[in-house]
Amino acid sequence: MFISFEGIDGSGKSTQARRLAGALAERGTETVLTREPGGSPGAEEIRRLLVEGGSERWSPETELLLFTAARRDHLERLIRPALARGAWVVTDRFADSTRVYQGAARAEQRALVDDLHRLMIGIEPDLTFIIDIDPEISLSRGQARGGNEDRFEGMGLDFQRRLRDGFHALAAENSDRIRLIDGSGDEDEVAARVLAALP
Ligand code: ATP
Ligand code: C5P
Repeated sequence: MFISFEGIDGSGKSTQARRLAGALAERGTETVLTREPGGSPGAEEIRRLLVEGGSERWSPETELLLFTAARRDHLERLIRPALARGAWVVTDRFADSTRVYQGAARAEQRALVDDLHRLMIGIEPDLTFIIDIDPEISLSRGQARGGNEDRFEGMGLDFQRRLRDGFHALAAENSDRIRLIDGSGDEDEVAARVLAALP
């Protein structure tokens, strides 16, 4: 079983991915918790190229290629081997983030995103939880934890609203695999909503 968590910056998806992986492990399921960009040694190196060095470092096309290269390595080295031995994989972000960030919010190149996905990735999660939150709430949580750690975050409320709209559109297009989870309330409340949406 392959599960992804998606959402805008600071939506709580890392927290919820960790909580679900913990709950699955407790019930005896071999579970691999991972993240993107990153998740394998090579992809973590590519992550550093992406998050360091200023917002003008890469063109939108190069940025998309780097995200795709990182995902390909993550898939080859970690995700596919884990699924092949029967483990469940829980990833904090996957291709839906690229559809929204690189395909719609930061640049309008969704067709290119889809072509590269088809050519180089070719797999969708069985189940995707989008942790849905008002950007004003996630930004206030982010301020509480002390600001931005990389070049991407903190691009402002308008940018986060565009991301949220993009995730809503994806959820509507892919209701077979995507569950939109209300991310408001405390961690326990959100975790209970995720568990309730598990088949
Ligand atoms: P990013 O995209 O920036 O990595 P994220 O979507 O993975 O963020 P988290 O790292 O899980 O989000 O959470 C962001 C911050 O909000 C953290 O400080 C976390 O402890 C806090 N947080 C997570 N869930 C909740 C919640 N339900 N209520 C209040 N605070 C929360
Ligand atoms: O989710 P995480 O905080 O680890 O992501 C690292 C940074 O990369 C974030 O600032 C996020 O906005 C950005 N990102 C992106 N495009 C993606 C995935 C993440 O710009 N496809």
